[in-house]
Amino acid sequence: MSALPDFDQNSVESRIGDIREAARGITERFSREYMRECIDNHRFPQEAWEALGECGLLGLTIPESMGGSGGGQVELVALAEVLAEAGLILPMLFLTGFGRVPVIKNGSPEQFERFIKPTMTGKEKLCFAITEPDSGTNSFAMSTLATQTAEGYSLTGRKVFISGAADADRMVVVARTQKASEVEHRTQGMSLFVVDTNAPGVELQPLNIEVGWPEKQYLVFFDEVQLAPDRLVGDPGQGLAGMFEALNSERLLVCAMSVGLGNYALKKAVAYANDRKPFGQPIGSYQALQHRLALAKAELEAARLMMFQAAATFDEGGNAGAHANMAKLLGSRAGVKAVEAALQTHGGYAFDRDYDVVTLWPSLRLMEIAPINNEMLLNYIGEHVLGLPKSY
Ligand SMILES: Cc1cc2nc3c(=O)[nH]c(=O)nc-3n(C[C@H](O)[C@H](O)[C@H](O)COP(=O)(O)OP(=O)(O)OC[C@H]3O[C@@H](n4cnc5c(N)ncnc54)[C@H](O)[C@@H]3O)c2cc1C
Repeated sequence: MSALPDFDQNSVESRIGDIREAARGITERFSREYMRECIDNHRFPQEAWEALGECGLLGLTIPESMGGSGGGQVELVALAEVLAEAGLILPMLFLTGFGRVPVIKNGSPEQFERFIKPTMTGKEKLCFAITEPDSGTNSFAMSTLATQTAEGYSLTGRKVFISGAADADRMVVVARTQKASEVEHRTQGMSLFVVDTNAPGVELQPLNIEVGWPEKQYLVFFDEVQLAPDRLVGDPGQGLAGMFEALNSERLLVCAMSVGLGNYALKKAVAYANDRKPFGQPIGSYQALQHRLALAKAELEAARLMMFQAAATFDEGGNAGAHANMAKLLGSRAGVKAVEAALQTHGGYAFDRDYDVVTLWPSLRLMEIAPINNEMLLNYIGEHVLGLPKSY
């Protein structure tokens, strides 16, 4: 069995105190009601986004020497967790936060200046495009192709479910620079490109997805989109490492959102369970309900510890893959348990949108499926941590 890295919980707690306080400053200004209004109208929460930029919170993970606010994934997940604890769902924070990871790590100084700096203040936003209609979970089977030309690359293909594509200025696109049929191993020949969302040849088609986020999802068509050589991040065909760096960060942010939003659901459930007395005593005193809430809390807490463990490993440059996958698996399951417990607690009122409980369910349930389904995470743990044979 592969060794899992050690972890110092105290050093994590000392790193996140200031971030949590700054994030609470945002949640005091922007309420869940504000977020509901944005979600219900599919309106980008520009005011909250700008406030995050003004406080320097969008500069997290970027060293101060490069104009950022410093910190790493530990600080970024702490921010995402606090926002979600107040019911604030800001997928663009995740998309920009993890989308820029490969550009920061593998891009040139010019790419940093042009594509990353404007995101540190909130002036520009990034989205991330990997999923394709036919290949779905099997990203290595993607067919979107960037062909080399005299001027750079020509990008043709389709991506689906791309969140916030119409709100973002640029899209980090994972594409093949060699077809799967032309490489020795299917993990080869993948490259990362930064594409302007309004570039000629890019078409966005909104999808009718019900998930409780302010951003819509899009089917994105690339029709011979002309890309200058400086749109390629790192070396051609070597995009896989950058992609996994980004995806590990994404898994941690998903865990943070699940844990935060799960705690938000629990908080509502506890308030209701202390107040509601159909038989004369609070329903929260009934163990069938109380234990369900208590178990959800314990599981959220376990996922949270795993999340910070993985984030600290990521920041130290260690191999965070196993723990990032476990954190996303445990966090998403715990988030669903929490919202299920909150639904049970609210009885029939759970289904009244004005109680804002059923409205939390799609976001939390989605996290078991996207950005990667939990079956694939179990496959990863089975194969790479336990050393079992591959099943698919
Ligand atoms: C709201 C929303 C936002 C999204 N945002 C983005 C985005 O911004 N960018 C982006 O690139 N993508 C995005 N996605 C796509 C998302 O990551 C995919 O939907 C997800 O990876 C699953 O792919 P699929 O839907 O094609 O499922 P499929 O690959 O068709 O899988 C369907 C189901 O089959 C099972 N399954 C599949 N393969 C295996 C296996 N090997 N072993 C066991 N079980 C398996 C799983 O239960 C899975 O849920 C988003 C999706 C949604 C719904």
